[in-house]
Amino acid sequence: MASLITCPHCGTRPKEEFTIRGDASPVRPQLGAAFAAWDAYVHLRDNVRGPMKEHWQHSGGCRRWLVVERDTFSHAVHAVTDAAEFARGQAGGPGPAAKPARPARAAKAATAAKGRGQA
Ligand SMILES: [Zn+2]
Repeated sequence: MASLITCPHCGTRPKEEFTIRGDASPVRPQLGAAFAAWDAYVHLRDNVRGPMKEHWQHSGGCRRWLVVERDTFSHAVHAVTDAAEFARGQAGGPGPAAKPARPARAAKAATAAKGRGQA
């Protein structure tokens, strides 16, 4: 059975086109964080048996980094998101499900311009 990954940019491709980096859940500590926080970020990983989010690069295609949600036991892939969109969602910004439309972005820029005394 061939495993397939659906790249949001290229479509459905065989998993051999992708390179896996590992767990996507660790969040980089702030500068000046305690040594223990950096040690955990760099070295400590859970050995998950089941659903997990991982960083994969479409190295044989668009070369974009993706977050692949898959089951490490059954190898079933549940979702694939562009890593940049995933990171924006983790940072409290609009995630993949709440991506703003361009008109909203233009309205926000107009509001910011009014705040600076421009119209
Ligand atoms: Zn791709």
